[in-house]
Amino acid sequence: MKGNDVKKAGLFKKLNNANLLRRLVQGIFAVSTIWIGFRFYLFYQQLAAGAEQVIERPPGVEAFLPISSLMSLKLWIVSGDFNRIHPAGLVLFLVILLTALLLKRGFCSWVCPVGLITEMMNGLQKLLFRQPLIVRWWFDYLLRSIKYLLLGFFCWIILLKMPGSALKAFIYSPYNQIADLKMLVFFLDPSTTTMVTLSILTVLSLLIRNAWCRYLCPYGALLGMSSWLSPWKIRRDAGSCIDCRKCTQVCPAHIEVHRVKTVQSDECHACLQCVAACPVKETLQLSVRRRRLVIRPWLYALLLIILFFGSVWIARLGGFWQNGIPLERYRQYIPLLERLNHDRGNGVH
Ligand code: SF4
Ligand code: SF4
Repeated sequence: MKGNDVKKAGLFKKLNNANLLRRLVQGIFAVSTIWIGFRFYLFYQQLAAGAEQVIERPPGVEAFLPISSLMSLKLWIVSGDFNRIHPAGLVLFLVILLTALLLKRGFCSWVCPVGLITEMMNGLQKLLFRQPLIVRWWFDYLLRSIKYLLLGFFCWIILLKMPGSALKAFIYSPYNQIADLKMLVFFLDPSTTTMVTLSILTVLSLLIRNAWCRYLCPYGALLGMSSWLSPWKIRRDAGSCIDCRKCTQVCPAHIEVHRVKTVQSDECHACLQCVAACPVKETLQLSVRRRRLVIRPWLYALLLIILFFGSVWIARLGGFWQNGIPLERYRQYIPLLERLNHDRGNGVH
């Protein structure tokens, strides 16, 4: 290896450091999510208190309604109706799919707040245990199929079984109109079942690295499948590779990067940690075939930010962001919400 082939230190390298950039982008999206959650909480509180003046509901909260968004997508395709009940949810769903088609599963490791929590759990796991639970390869395959089964179930029900009329009836129903508020109340006042489920998931995440993202998240399954179509992949130049295996050691998805020329795995979430760890210049890169059109970490971060915030801006301008539910209707729905919550507390479903 020539001396000048080793990656150079310096300001540009620091600015182009994938790990640093990823933390920064994760931070931006985490702060945005907390801000949206806080404003939505205030909106609900003011509404429930019967206040005259209520702050504007933040539409970004609809990002947490992926099943409703999948229904909206099908309704849009079969009838051309871009519904005004959760339009922001559909916009964000499309943007997230687009990121996977172009930039692989970057949503999971650069944007998703659950992905960030999973990484924090991994850090805690390292503090608590020296060695995480090793899952045998065959059991790992079996467990990874769970998220595909869940995705298959939702797709079967929504895309195959539900006709357009049933979708429309559900989307415009009072139940779906307050789905976001129901979700908030669900977490503000969790039932025993919710607490038990969350506790099991927490323990599981402490014992097994990336348990939620790797085995259970149907959104991750959808993005993993979509990412196969992405022309950009992690590619290794076998000619300049010194077989140090640093890429494989840092890969959180347990991919043997040092063995392959192109990472094809649906588990690769484009975290670019392998790229950051590789000591040989331009040996490991995110590029299209023949190692062309390389996306450097700084460009990757920029593209993600432009895609998300740019789409929100365009959707706002085009009137596809705010829903069309009048405040008065929300006021009428509050007793319904309280009744649903009361029924849930009493085990009525
Ligand atoms: S292969 Fe590289 S980019 Fe993909 S998950 Fe592993 S470390 Fe991240
Ligand atoms: S980090 Fe991976 S790709 Fe880079 S030199 Fe080492 S083995 Fe080769």
